[in-house]
Amino acid sequence: MKRPALLLLAVLGILPSGTVLAASPDDPPKCKECQYLCALMDQMLQKEATAGFYWKYALKNPNALQAATSDDVYNQVKDVDFANWGKTRPWPCFEPKGGPGPTQADLETTDSTANPPCTILMDIYGPNGAIVAQKELYKGDTYQRFTEGKCSDIYQPTIKHEEKHQQDCKAAKAMGQSLFDNPARWAQSEFEANSLHAQILRQEIRQLINSSPSGCGWKPTDGQKKDPSSIPSVKQMQRMEQIRHFFEMAFGPGD
Ligand SMILES: [Zn+2]
Repeated sequence: MKRPALLLLAVLGILPSGTVLAASPDDPPKCKECQYLCALMDQMLQKEATAGFYWKYALKNPNALQAATSDDVYNQVKDVDFANWGKTRPWPCFEPKGGPGPTQADLETTDSTANPPCTILMDIYGPNGAIVAQKELYKGDTYQRFTEGKCSDIYQPTIKHEEKHQQDCKAAKAMGQSLFDNPARWAQSEFEANSLHAQILRQEIRQLINSSPSGCGWKPTDGQKKDPSSIPSVKQMQRMEQIRHFFEMAFGPGD
């Protein structure tokens, strides 16, 4: 199921030029360390897997499956979506996953029929992990709360993802429709937002490797060397992470 969709992502190339995001000068220094490469790869693979799933129901897929409601679609995707990704990810990074931290950033966008409509919200979590409040991203100090202490490599593509939903939501609103009440349109929006999210992460992975004196330990194949946008394969990343982890245990954190 995943392979044809991944191929499609490559063919579509939906990333507009100029989307490469500059790292924020406010980033915590640790955001540029090779130990975050695994977290970036992990999120990229998750977004690719999620996009591949939504494509099965998406409006522009000529062989799309039909769903009665968007909830029906979401109930199937949630195994690869945030909460349960740990069960299906190709490998665990040695860094802890889940919970708040510099590599976690979640946002939501309200529907065209909601009040306020098509608005990006930050979920505020209580101590038990449940959402206790939602705040508008660009009101008050919410943006600062959302970005503080986090890596821009993580939160910037998250914002781009939501801006895609916001754009689709406004288009639905202009037609007097609800985006979420149209499963095929909603799945299309999720497919495109997750594809964009994955593509930005892919570029950031390469940027982080390029900025490391050791290339984060990556030994590219001849084919990969020819492609300036190539990134490590999953197998290479597993190996790099094992070696990095071994040296960190033996000698302490490196570059
Ligand atoms: Zn989304």
